[in-house]
Amino acid sequence: MADVEKYGEGNRNTTIRGLEGERFGLLVVLRYCPFSERPESARQRKDGAWWYCRCDCGSEKAIRGTNLKQGASRSCGCQSRRYGFRAA
Ligand SMILES: [Zn+2]
Repeated sequence: MADVEKYGEGNRNTTIRGLEGERFGLLVVLRYCPFSERPESARQRKDGAWWYCRCDCGSEKAIRGTNLKQGASRSCGCQSRRYGFRAA
């Protein structure tokens, strides 16, 4: 059974490791984000594993693992801001 998406809170010892140290765009995964530390909206949805990531710009942010793997999250948000407003 290769269901890697099953980052349930109950089976953390088998599924938690995985993304640490990996890079997704500007983000490098630091560590797992425990359920209790996730944003309110995420806690309600129970939407899989979240990870603390450090962006190349220096800020840290908790990001959903699915977003990282699907390429939906490539930065802490500074990138989209940069694209929206051309820096002087
Ligand atoms: Zn950033």
